[in-house]
Amino acid sequence: MADILVYSDKPQVARELAFKGREFAAELGLGLSAAALGPESAAAAADLGGHGADRVFVSDDAALEGLPTDVVAEALAQIAQEAGAEYVLLGSTRRGKELAGRLAQKLGAGAVTDVNAMAVKDGALVGWRYALGGATVAEERIDTPVKLFAVMPKTFEVGAPQAGAGEVVTPALSLSPSRVTVGGRTPREGESVDLAAAPLILGVGRGFAKREDLDLGRELAAALGAELACTKSLADFEWLPEDRIVGLSGAKTKPDLYLSVGVSGQVQHTVGISQAKIIAAVNTDKEAPIFQLADYGIVGDLYQVVPALMEKLKSL
Ligand SMILES: Cc1cc2nc3c(=O)[nH]c(=O)nc-3n(C[C@H](O)[C@H](O)[C@H](O)COP(=O)(O)OP(=O)(O)OC[C@H]3O[C@@H](n4cnc5c(N)ncnc54)[C@H](O)[C@@H]3O)c2cc1C
Repeated sequence: MADILVYSDKPQVARELAFKGREFAAELGLGLSAAALGPESAAAAADLGGHGADRVFVSDDAALEGLPTDVVAEALAQIAQEAGAEYVLLGSTRRGKELAGRLAQKLGAGAVTDVNAMAVKDGALVGWRYALGGATVAEERIDTPVKLFAVMPKTFEVGAPQAGAGEVVTPALSLSPSRVTVGGRTPREGESVDLAAAPLILGVGRGFAKREDLDLGRELAAALGAELACTKSLADFEWLPEDRIVGLSGAKTKPDLYLSVGVSGQVQHTVGISQAKIIAAVNTDKEAPIFQLADYGIVGDLYQVVPALMEKLKSL
């Protein structure tokens, strides 16, 4: 029987793919295989089996140490062949996207990355992703015998794990050491942030007139317990680091609440917040595009609204 094969080096993303992959496999009459690679593979195998995989291909081959993308691609290519995979679902993370290209080349597969929705349509899996700089959504269908979709983290919900793991398969992989040598590692300066996983986000934009005024945003973020994010404009000014950008060039977020302050809401920014459960906005311009997307809006000057919000929060 042909299979859907799922893989991500991020355990949560792998679970999301397995859980939804189970549903797709049932709809298409396919089996569901997962791959668990590297030193943590044994624990991951039980987890993926509990989340829906019929079979989990496990390998901690020495060449997989550190999960170099070229070796992972080769391992997955061999596993995909053994599993008879018709579809491969990967996480569309930074590494996952690199992996998608490498693996697609090995499998002669058509590949689509940055997928943010998937469904079975006319007997095949199709994916959707933003196109034309975020101005529209394209439906992508792949015609090659093996089809590869890299799906954005948090696209699929994860249900409770079931008792009973999938069958564990130890494939006889033939792997060579990575051709990439790491010359050294330099820790990133400053704190790092995972906006894609943040449940509360305060997004700040050019409505803040001066760099030091961002302290107002930081205080509000701290009071809300929210991560601070920004538009590309602020990162271009180097007022905040690039990993705080939300949008086409930055993080695609899915928070419970996205509160934007002094953000106009250009499409390149809003593609990163369209999956938020609730969007609230503060802007002086009632015609600002952000209000077309917002569930709640305050037309007002942030220099008055933010201190008033802080007061309100203190009194709660
Ligand atoms: C290829 C490409 C990729 C891009 N990728 C991204 C991306 O990933 N993320 C991103 O954010 N942008 C991106 N951009 C830039 C994007 O097009 C916009 O230029 C940017 O998002 C605008 O940032 P902003 O809202 O901070 O600034 P502005 O558009 O200048 O908006 C500032 C807003 O603040 C309001 N305001 C002013 N004063 C106050 C006040 N006192 N109180 C309250 N409100 C006030 C104004 O009414 C205005 O609406 C990209 C652009 C291109 C071309």
